[in-house]
Amino acid sequence: MLPSIRRRIFVRGIVQGVGFRPYVYTLAVSSRVAGFVRNEPGGVRIEVEGRKEDVERFTARLPAELPPLAALDGMEVSEVEPCGDHAFTIVASAPAADRTTAIPADTAVCEACRREMNDPADRRHRYPFINCTDCGPRFTLILDLPYDRPATTMRDFPLCPACAAEYADPTTRRFHAEPIACPVCGPRLAFHPSGDPAATVFKEDALAAARQALAAGRVVAVKGVGGFHLACDALDPEAVALLRRRKGRGDKPFAVMMRDLETVRAYARLSQEEERLLTGRERPIVLLRHREGAGEQLAAAVAPGQASIGVLLPYAPLHDLLLGETPLVMTSGNRSDEPIARENGEALERLSGLADAFLLHDRGIHAVCDDSVARVALGRELPLRRSRGWAPYPVPLPFETPPLLAVGGEIKAVFAAATGTQAFLSQHIGDLGNLETLTAFERAVEHLLRLLRIEPLAVACDLHPDYQSARWARAWAKERGLPVVAVQHHHAHIAAVLAENGAAGTGPVLGVAFDGTGYGTDGTIWGGEILLVEEGSFQRIGRLTAVPLPGGDAGVRRPARMALAHLRAAGLPWDTDLPPVAATREADLRVLAIQLEKGIAAPLTTSCGRLFDAVAALIGLRPEVTYEGQAAMELEALAEETSEEPYRFDLREETELVLDPAPVFRSLVADLRAGVRKGRMAARFHDGLAAVVVEACQRLSAAHGSRTVALSGGVFQNVRFLTVLVEGLTAAGFEVLTHRRVPPNDGGLALGQVAVARWPGREGW
Ligand SMILES: [Zn+2]
Ligand SMILES: [Zn+2]
Repeated sequence: MLPSIRRRIFVRGIVQGVGFRPYVYTLAVSSRVAGFVRNEPGGVRIEVEGRKEDVERFTARLPAELPPLAALDGMEVSEVEPCGDHAFTIVASAPAADRTTAIPADTAVCEACRREMNDPADRRHRYPFINCTDCGPRFTLILDLPYDRPATTMRDFPLCPACAAEYADPTTRRFHAEPIACPVCGPRLAFHPSGDPAATVFKEDALAAARQALAAGRVVAVKGVGGFHLACDALDPEAVALLRRRKGRGDKPFAVMMRDLETVRAYARLSQEEERLLTGRERPIVLLRHREGAGEQLAAAVAPGQASIGVLLPYAPLHDLLLGETPLVMTSGNRSDEPIARENGEALERLSGLADAFLLHDRGIHAVCDDSVARVALGRELPLRRSRGWAPYPVPLPFETPPLLAVGGEIKAVFAAATGTQAFLSQHIGDLGNLETLTAFERAVEHLLRLLRIEPLAVACDLHPDYQSARWARAWAKERGLPVVAVQHHHAHIAAVLAENGAAGTGPVLGVAFDGTGYGTDGTIWGGEILLVEEGSFQRIGRLTAVPLPGGDAGVRRPARMALAHLRAAGLPWDTDLPPVAATREADLRVLAIQLEKGIAAPLTTSCGRLFDAVAALIGLRPEVTYEGQAAMELEALAEETSEEPYRFDLREETELVLDPAPVFRSLVADLRAGVRKGRMAARFHDGLAAVVVEACQRLSAAHGSRTVALSGGVFQNVRFLTVLVEGLTAAGFEVLTHRRVPPNDGGLALGQVAVARWPGREGW
C-alpha cells in the first residue's frame, strides 16, 4: 500500500449556507480521500488524507468546481501528519466566538427547483416554497449563526420523513439545505379577503383566488421573501391609478414583474448586459428603455414621464405560480415613507386601506429586505439600491479597519458594519423620516451586529446636525461610551467610490460629488462639489455657483422656484413668457423676489440636482414634482443622444474654482424663444455640464497634480450625463473611477463613512 499524505485546508469567503460542506463531501468521496469538513469562525476547515495524487486532485478541484452560490476569498493549504482516517465526514459546527463569515443572501429559485415545481410527478409539484442548497431564502430567515435550521424561521416546521431523508443524503441537492420544505411539512399559502377572515382559503384555492382578484383589477398584498408587495394588473390603468392613489405615491414609478424574458422583450429593449442582470440570481429590478407601442402604454401608467421602466423577473417560486401572461405591478408593501411590512398581523393592519385582499403564508420573515434596483451604465451594472440578493454580502476594503458602525445618510438609509478588510452593507431601510422607519433601522443594526459578532469601537455618521441617523448614532454611541466620527456628506460619497475601486490611500484624487443636498462644512447646502480627497481628509477646490434655495428643503418640490432663483442669479428678468414665471402666481413672485434679495428662508446651495431641476422647469417640463429627482430624471429621459453644441458655463477662480451656469441660462432663454426642441436643449445642457467638469478637472489637476477623477453622488444615476462625462475625462487622459458595487446615491454613503472614519488619526478617535 502506498503511503498516505494529509492536508489541512482553510477556506474563506461565501462558504456557509451555500451547500459548501455537501459539495466538499461529494468531492472528497469521488476523489477517494478521507478526512472531514467543518464550519468554523471565519470560514470552513477541511482535512483530507489519502494517496498523494488523490489529495492533489482534490485540492485542485476544490476551488475550480464550486457550487453556484459559493465564492472563495482565500484558501490556505498546509501539509500535516496523516492520522489514518478511512472515511470522510461532515463534523458539527465549532462554537463560534468571532464570526465574520459572510451571511448568505437570498437567491432566486434555481432552474432545477423550477423544473421540479412544474413536474406533475414530483412531490413538490406546484409547491410555492420549493428550494434547495442552490437557491431560496437565506438572510431574511436567519435568526442567528451558525446557519442551521433551528436558527432560522423554518424551525417551526419539523421535517417530514421524505424531507429528512433528502436533508441527510449527500447525493441530493437538498443535503443540509436548511430551509427545505414540502407540501406535507412546510409552509402553506392562504388567501384572505380584506375585512372577511372567515372567507380565508388555502393552498391552490388561495392561489386561484389571488389570480382572480388581480384579473378583476383588485390590489392584492402578496407576502414574498423579504416582505410584502402590493400587486395589481400592470395593464389595467384603473387598477394602477387606484394603487397609486392609495399609496400616496404621486408619479413615482412602479416596478413591474414579468413572467419571462420573452415577455420583457415585448415591452422593453434589452442589451446583453441587461439580460444578464435581469436573470442573475440576485434578480434586481432593472431599469430598461421601453419599446415603442406596448412598452409606451405600459410606461405611461407605471412610470409617467420616464424613458425607462423598472422590470423584474419572478424570484420566489410563488411568483412563478402567480404570474400569468399579464405583467403585474409589484411595489413594496408600505405607505410612502413607511417601512415595508414584515409579519402577517402587521400587514393586515397597516395595509388594510391599501389592499383589497392578502395572499399570505406562514414562513416567517426575520429580516425585512426590499427589492434591489440596478441599471446598466458604461456596459456594466450600476446599483441604484443594493438590497435583496446582495445584502448583507461584504464589500472588500483595500485597507484594514477596526470594528466600526457607519450609519449612512437620511434618505435611502443603508448602514455598514465593518471589521478587518470587510464592510458588511445592510439592506435598504428607506427614508428615516418617521419613527417606524427609525425603529426598523435600529432593529436591523442590532440584528446584523449580533449575527456578525461585531462590537464597534466607533460610530460614523453624517455631519448634518438634523439627520435622524446622526442623532441616533450620537445617542447610541453615548450609551456605550464610543466616539462618534462625523463625516462630511460629499467626502463620504467620494471615499465610497474610492473604497469600492480599491483606490483608497493611493494619493490625492479629484472627487466630483454631484447630488441633491448635503450639509457642508460652512453650514450651507452643498451638492455640486469638486473635492481634493486624500486618505481621511479633503479640501473643497471647486463648486457650482451658490444660489438661494427658496423655501429650503420645501423648495425641492418646486423646481419652478429653483429656475427663478437661477434666472435671478444670472441677471435675467422674470419675463412672463418663461414657463416657470408663467407657472407662478404674481403674488408669489413678489414674495419670492424679496426672499431671494434678502436671503430670507432661502439658504445658499451649490446643489447640482437642483440645477437639473431648474433647467427642467425653465424649458417647461414641470413646475412642481411629487418626488425628489423627478424633474432631473425627466430631463435625462428627454435629452437627445448628441447635441454637438454644448452650452457654455463660465469658469472663474474664487476661493474655489467656480462653475457658473449663468451663460447656460441665457442660452436656454434664447433657445426657448427660438422654439428649439426641448430634447435638444436637454442634450445641450447635459453635454455642457460634462464639458465644464472636464475643463475644471484639467485646471485643478494642473494645480494639484492628480490624474485620477472619482465620480459619486445621486446625479450619477443619470446615465446620459455619466457616459458623456466619463468619455470626456478619459479623452483628456484621466483615470476615471465610478460605482459598480454600491449606489452613487446616499445608499452608498455608509461605505464612504467607514473609509473616512477608520483613520485613527481623526478627531474623536
Ligand atoms: Zn433550487
Ligand atoms: Zn417535507
